[in-house]
Amino acid sequence: MHEFSTVIVEASNIVSPHSRRKSTRRASSLPVAILGGGITGLTAAWHLHQAKVPVKVFEAAPTPGGVIISTRQEGWLQESGPNSMLEGSAEVTALIEAVGLNPRRLYAADSAKNRYVMRDGKLVAMPISPMAFVMTKLFSLQAKLNLLGEPWRAKAPADLEESVGAFVKRRLGQEFLDYAINPFVGGVYAGDPYKLSVTHGFPKLHALEQEHGSLIRGALKRRNTSGGPKDRILSFPEGLAELPLALAAALGDAVRCSQRVTTVRRVDQHWEITSGIDGTQVTESFSSVVCALPAAALAAIKFEAVPGSERLSELIDIEHPPVTSVFVGYRREQVAHPLDGFGLLVPEVEQRRMLGVLFSSALFPNRAPDGHVALTLFIGGVRAPELAKLDDVALRKLVSEELGELLGVKGEPVRFSVVRWPRAIPQYTLGYARFKTIFTQVETGTPGLYFGGNARDGISLANCIESGRRLANAAGAVKS
Ligand SMILES: Cc1cc2nc3c(=O)[nH]c(=O)nc-3n(C[C@H](O)[C@H](O)[C@H](O)COP(=O)(O)OP(=O)(O)OC[C@H]3O[C@@H](n4cnc5c(N)ncnc54)[C@H](O)[C@@H]3O)c2cc1C
Repeated sequence: MHEFSTVIVEASNIVSPHSRRKSTRRASSLPVAILGGGITGLTAAWHLHQAKVPVKVFEAAPTPGGVIISTRQEGWLQESGPNSMLEGSAEVTALIEAVGLNPRRLYAADSAKNRYVMRDGKLVAMPISPMAFVMTKLFSLQAKLNLLGEPWRAKAPADLEESVGAFVKRRLGQEFLDYAINPFVGGVYAGDPYKLSVTHGFPKLHALEQEHGSLIRGALKRRNTSGGPKDRILSFPEGLAELPLALAAALGDAVRCSQRVTTVRRVDQHWEITSGIDGTQVTESFSSVVCALPAAALAAIKFEAVPGSERLSELIDIEHPPVTSVFVGYRREQVAHPLDGFGLLVPEVEQRRMLGVLFSSALFPNRAPDGHVALTLFIGGVRAPELAKLDDVALRKLVSEELGELLGVKGEPVRFSVVRWPRAIPQYTLGYARFKTIFTQVETGTPGLYFGGNARDGISLANCIESGRRLANAAGAVKS
């Protein structure tokens, strides 16, 4: 990115520990500090930069992008974190266009509409039309008839916080929970439907019941009235990392990689941030502070002269299960399955050892060399955290047994790469309001300090892009 020594010399807002109290610069002339160079922080920084507000992004890792990591090697393109995003919000569309990535937009193949779910050891396509629903073997006749009664079921009181499991069982029945929602929750959150709060984890689902009295009625009404962008699955030729890299490129030297923030201090009308670069601590002044950090990172930072900030250490209690992503490549003839879909999700009741498999090279072009296919498996989550910790040898065995049975894969993979996420995705569990209240209380008690990111504003990339925009609006609006 840049030479760190140059940054230290050039940064005009550096204060030494001794001169700290003598700093006389007006807060309004100082830059906004953005903590975290993942998609949330970069989006926030980019919007502020566009509005001519000076910013500095502190990123602990050597490269920007956070958990978005796309690696091209010998014709393979591996996504270590997120694999695709839903372009279901105007905010996402606008950002992609504004950073010049419109011509590089890559939508998932048509076949991605097919999603396989496992039932009784076999792969069954998730029905995507009313006729397919009538015919599918994924649900029994009784489950289908039960679903027809959904529009007439009473809605729950607005203030009742239910688990996703209890909510879906009440409205749609046990079988629908087991074979549709459980695998979906495993695929999105690597979570457990009985632990996740429908209010906090799936607010749109909760709103459908509250506003329309029925999920089916609400979904049909929304489909007929929604004029916004359709939920299309999106990436770029060199993977999702193209987006954070484009944002970082537009921000230039304002993005400081390998610079971990350790202390945030309120001093009169401005802020001081202490960070570590190459073992040296540097303190600099800022007008305001935007925190776009994972919960554990936020809990570890020392906040000084910020009322209520001691409660931020409680954020470490937010459950983040470990997930291991395994990228495997085979010669086409080694895989019997046609791989004509998005991938395969595995319901917990099927008792397998993985959450699901993405058919990566079928989803987007050029993810595997000619004559080869690439698959990405997710292992662990709340369901089986111990499996995420298996070593590479045990994972190789697990992958070849599971894929052998489910997709008819034969022989050793020609490519095998493992990425472990010890704390993958925040779980919006029952009682999550406790954590949201901490953010709100600290923010309201101290003007000029803002919190966003996936522990507060939702876990999807679209949620994080919206979070970045919200943070930029809040920080840009502050007058010192
Ligand atoms: C395995 C996996 C698969 C996923 N799949 C999908 C998917 O397919 N689609 C989808 O929409 N979403 C997916 N998600 C979720 C989504 O990717 C994340 O929620 C989102 O990218 C989080 O972005 P963020 O900027 O809020 O946080 P992060 O990406 O975590 O960025 C925070 C940054 O802060 C930095 N940092 C930490 N501490 C400090 C410090 N003290 N000082 C300075 N910097 C610090 C970190 O290095 C990091 O770069 C997935 C997530 C994971 C882990």
